[in-house]
Amino acid sequence: MYDLTSPKVIRALCNEYGFKFKKSYGQNFLTDSDVLYKIAEIAGEEGVLEIGPGFGTLTAFLAQRSKKVLAIELDESLKPIIDTTLAGFNNIDIVYKDIMKTDIRALLNEYFNGMSVSVAANLPYYVTTPIVLKLLEERLPFKKVIVMVQKEVGDRMVAKPGTKDYGALTIAVDYYSKAEIIEKVPASSFIPAPKVDSCVVSMEIRTEPYINADEKMFFSVVKAAFAQRRKTLSNGLANSGLFGTKENIQKLIEELGYDGNVRGETLSIIEFSNIARLLNERGYLR
Ligand code: SAM
Repeated sequence: MYDLTSPKVIRALCNEYGFKFKKSYGQNFLTDSDVLYKIAEIAGEEGVLEIGPGFGTLTAFLAQRSKKVLAIELDESLKPIIDTTLAGFNNIDIVYKDIMKTDIRALLNEYFNGMSVSVAANLPYYVTTPIVLKLLEERLPFKKVIVMVQKEVGDRMVAKPGTKDYGALTIAVDYYSKAEIIEKVPASSFIPAPKVDSCVVSMEIRTEPYINADEKMFFSVVKAAFAQRRKTLSNGLANSGLFGTKENIQKLIEELGYDGNVRGETLSIIEFSNIARLLNERGYLR
């Protein structure tokens, strides 16, 4: 078996196959075996969908802990390497596709046949947020989604109201999952080393609705509130053109006990939900 956490082994494979890391595909391969082990352990014992296997480093750790691994890789030039490094496993399938253009639900049906499935991925940084949102918003039947992301993105995913990192991404992550940062990972743990540090975020997908408001209304309010985060909530909502005049919105916010000049960035997901519910009752955004 190949020790893909060894820089020497990675360099040898690069030489043997004439492989050059593609920055544009976010190819920074993880070499810290403790972190790899931890991700594989949390991902569980049934099915795992991996995004971006690279040379197969995380894939091999996952395959040792899980019944079945399906990995989606964009870069087809990795195929001869993956075919070599993962040759000893019989519970791994690799599909060469762009995850953003993939019908994930159809793949889950095809490969996992009713198994409980989690996602594990060291995500390519150029497309981290769109991938995370796709995984959550499509309401795919995942148990957990465990992703390595740039530290700044991880901070935004789990931020608290009133902090600079808190925003629409935090609220989307909180809406669909219970998220926590489980590991901080320095840039030196990757080959080639990226310019930024990373962290592993574990999202346990919520099976019950977390808030009591119409989803479309809720996300319209959140989007409007953070589109102009320096403005007051009433200004943000009024400028979206979806919720009536600033004066009406201010009154409505005051009815809920807030100062009419409150900023959206200070409100929790539950508070956004209360505002969305009242806007719904008053007939906005039909
Ligand atoms: N899993 C490996 C590891 O941990 O060392 C590699 C992770 S590397 C950060 C990201 C991987 O995602 C690369 O192999 C890259 O080619 C692949 N990738 C980039 N964009 C992708 C996309 N849109 N769909 C699927 N894979 C993609």
